[in-house]
Amino acid sequence: MEIKKDIIELIGDASLVEDINFEVSNIIVYTKNRKFFLGCSDLIKTMVSKEKKRIEVRLDPSLLMDEKEAESAITKIVPKEADLKEMWFDRDRSVVSLEAVRPEMITSNNKKTINEIREETGWSVFLSRYPLIKSDVLRAIREMLYSSSKFRRKLLNSIGEKIYNSKFDVNDRYWVRLSALGGFRHVGRSCMLVQTPISTIMLDCGIDVSNSRESVPRIDAPEFDISKLDAVVITHSHLDHCGFLPALYKYGYKGPVYSTLPTRDVMTLLHLDYIALGNKTNTKAMFDVADIKEMLKYSIPLSYREVTDITPDIRVTLHNAGHILGSAMVHLNVGSGFYNILYTGDFKYANSKTLNKADNIFDRVEALIMESTYGGDQDQQPSREDAEQFFLDIITKTVEKKGKVLVPVLGVGRAQELMLLIEEWERFGLMPDIPVVVDGMLWDVTAIYTAYPEFMNTETKKRIIEHNSNPFISPNFKHTVSEEERQQILAGGPAIIIATSGMLNGGPSLSYFANLCEDERNSVVLVSYQGAGTLGRTLQNGGRDVDIELNGKIRHFTVNSLIYSIEGFSGHSDRNQLERYINDIKPKPRKLILDHGEESKIISLSHFMRKRFKIETLAPHVLDALRLK
Ligand SMILES: [Zn+2]
Repeated sequence: MEIKKDIIELIGDASLVEDINFEVSNIIVYTKNRKFFLGCSDLIKTMVSKEKKRIEVRLDPSLLMDEKEAESAITKIVPKEADLKEMWFDRDRSVVSLEAVRPEMITSNNKKTINEIREETGWSVFLSRYPLIKSDVLRAIREMLYSSSKFRRKLLNSIGEKIYNSKFDVNDRYWVRLSALGGFRHVGRSCMLVQTPISTIMLDCGIDVSNSRESVPRIDAPEFDISKLDAVVITHSHLDHCGFLPALYKYGYKGPVYSTLPTRDVMTLLHLDYIALGNKTNTKAMFDVADIKEMLKYSIPLSYREVTDITPDIRVTLHNAGHILGSAMVHLNVGSGFYNILYTGDFKYANSKTLNKADNIFDRVEALIMESTYGGDQDQQPSREDAEQFFLDIITKTVEKKGKVLVPVLGVGRAQELMLLIEEWERFGLMPDIPVVVDGMLWDVTAIYTAYPEFMNTETKKRIIEHNSNPFISPNFKHTVSEEERQQILAGGPAIIIATSGMLNGGPSLSYFANLCEDERNSVVLVSYQGAGTLGRTLQNGGRDVDIELNGKIRHFTVNSLIYSIEGFSGHSDRNQLERYINDIKPKPRKLILDHGEESKIISLSHFMRKRFKIETLAPHVLDALRLK
């Protein structure tokens, strides 16, 4: 293979190379020469700049120190302040993964600790953060990945072989095509294909939980052939972007799925929760636990701004989208610069408590596929400050009346954002001294948040990493799981209850709602997008006589609690922020393709953008396909 020959030539001595392996497009050189292994950093720099690929040298597995011995050597080398909790040895890849409460204490001394481990044991080091809140799911995910390391080494290598083995020509017969499989003129089941003469990749693979008729992507489209799908890229862990992914594996997909680490972990948790909810209501999920495990085996994490070839002619880079932890915009460089696409996924072009605003600077962008959830001309969110003050006033007034505040949320995003806000109010003495109930799986998601402060905004990251102070573990946050604990909270005094689902179409928030809604002292605060046909939307529209299905029985309720909607906490950009994004993005795209919005809003936004920026604007329907170039 060409690339392997080039690498050996650059190294200059074939006897130093025992094996060359790929981890997707990264090149791993295994050597039996210890001196070369320890002293090759300058050579690697030259190789990397010549090949424009990431190259890593590891010691051949046969020369690694025995795992038991290495474990005690590493324990001695790693500084105590790092609080090392777990070690996972992957002999096939010569890698040891260290999980520490403060991994920055291992990297802080200019990699001296890491080099010492390499020198003494021969193992190369991967670092990850041990969550501050115990997370069974995170542990199970990591265990599962380590136990399938042989399979994963093969998988990563085979993707690399395919990338480096195939030649392609960008000639006058080359093309790039986009097919809408879901989430166009619709909020929910986001899914699309990008195809070239040699690659097919899928961006997002969601479901619509509020719509039973159009709930899954149109994989019956003629251009979709599951056996020819090369890769899936997931922007973030909300089910309307990833809820159908395990089903894809059930139907026989055997390829990689790329996402950030928080997206991989949180989506796994939400998939498991989705199955559990289905079991409770006796509706069968479209997949089971075995399919989720299969998906995990094929998952490949990417960092923001890490450039990776995923097929011979498609190179992907993820960028911060500012929507929820780990949410990404997907940049595709197709055909070595022939065409560049940016798909925003859900994004927020404003800073929040947890995240920095979405990235807006790219090398090249010809087509921008942009979400439009709040793209209507009436969609002006109040300022963040006004929203915060309004929320605090609702809490204060409700507590004065001895009532409770119920905040229905999606599993991930707003819940953690509100937790940070409440923790800040507590620190400044603005919060009444009441319990803040974080129900069920929201706590598990928050646990995953504590493992990835690197993905948070500059200030929160600094607070957690440099000052070792994690806002998610404030003592006022109470975790409830069982029905008994929920009844205790309901029988007690004032409290804030944060619970899923966000649109009151199921989950614990609905059962809290049924218990609280007839008492006029209580308040319900809707902070997420409310899909058409959901109870949340009915309440927003003024409906106060409602029928709710609980444990298979329909019951009637007259709502006396106060119902509020606060748009200012949204993780989506409103009309002004969408406009500002198009104004600020560099370079300016030639084509704007709108998705993820109700039809009327998409049409209104499309007219507006065309007039305002003189840009070609398209609003495809589901099942439309368009040639981009
Ligand atoms: Zn989302």
